[in-house]
Amino acid sequence: MRGYNLDTETITQIHKLRDLGHSYKEIAIRLGIGKSTVNHRLNPMKPEVKAKAYARQKTWKRHNRLTTTINGVHRAFKVLKRSRPKYCELCKEITSKLYWHHWDDNYLGIGLWLCWSCHHFAEGVDKGLSLDLYLGLKKELTSEKLLVPLEVEITIAPYWS
Ligand SMILES: [Zn+2]
Repeated sequence: MRGYNLDTETITQIHKLRDLGHSYKEIAIRLGIGKSTVNHRLNPMKPEVKAKAYARQKTWKRHNRLTTTINGVHRAFKVLKRSRPKYCELCKEITSKLYWHHWDDNYLGIGLWLCWSCHHFAEGVDKGLSLDLYLGLKKELTSEKLLVPLEVEITIAPYWS
């Protein structure tokens, strides 16, 4: 979107040249910018058109783009993901917030559409965390010898005091 990063002098020139009757192509050649940049300047997008374009771009990104960290480097890839369902593929909860979970950096297009909590669960499992380990720790800490017999409710001071 070069048209949005033009200096004020160039923008003034575009309008002046157009007022003098020059074509978009002539203006573009004379100022050394693209013809579409001239068009963007002379016919700015209406807010509703802009919003639609933004929504389309967002949808495209959801379906075709993946950002991930590989060997400590944050990178972005164009990936063709399976079509996005209306629910999490693991817990089946219907949600509009779904995340593409992949497990092989060489095959980014192989993955699952998961909700936030299932995505973190899957990441944990992929990291080698085991459900048995978690359940074991939980059981250990709730065993009678470790249980604190009494919880005391305390009053929390409001943050503004
Ligand atoms: Zn889920």
